[in-house]
Amino acid sequence: SLFRHAQFEISIAKPSGLPPPNGPEIAFAGRSNAGKSSAINTLANHVRLAFVSKTPGRTQLINFFRLQNGAVLVDLPGYGYAEVPEAIRRQWQHLLEDYLTRRPNLIGLVLIMDSRHPLKDRDRTMIGWFAPSGRPIHVLLTKSDKLTRSEAAATLAAVRKELAPLGEQVTVQLFSSLKKTGVEEVEQVVGSWLAA
Ligand code: GDP
Repeated sequence: SLFRHAQFEISIAKPSGLPPPNGPEIAFAGRSNAGKSSAINTLANHVRLAFVSKTPGRTQLINFFRLQNGAVLVDLPGYGYAEVPEAIRRQWQHLLEDYLTRRPNLIGLVLIMDSRHPLKDRDRTMIGWFAPSGRPIHVLLTKSDKLTRSEAAATLAAVRKELAPLGEQVTVQLFSSLKKTGVEEVEQVVGSWLAA
């Protein structure tokens, strides 16, 4: 269990506050409300490791959690709040782009999407920033419990098809924090990044 007993290390509000690279980092990103905090808490088997409560427009942070094997889970600020002022949105965007494109010890990106609303514009922007690094992206289609089995299967196939041009760099799976399904698959994928 890769993410179990993750320990909170530090929160930062701007790129200049990034801690020096210390261990391979796995970043988790997603639109606000996609289910990122719930997914992190489910993976860590922790009630409240990532903070689930949030207010639009509040200071957005990058949170660092140390895994038991020495790797780092990096919880990036949620994006896509419509009601956030443009200036703040640009600031977050800058923070995310800077981190995703420049962090030398970032080895892979886990992108959380609500399985009912996958691949929105900003999700594609994130992929566009990160994919040129050649590093792997794993898409979690979460809240899959809200879909029927056939809807979930169709969504999985459609997202895989859309991302097929990126080849083996991108993997996609269904996930549910409510039902705790998909946990082993994430652990397997991220574990393989860390073992490479
Ligand atoms: P974040 O903004 O991406 O961190 O999203 P949260 O983890 O705070 O989740 C947003 C909302 O979706 C909350 O009301 C959660 O309870 C709900 N949610 C998150 N994951 C799931 C899931 O797998 N299934 C269901 N049914 N609801 C979920």
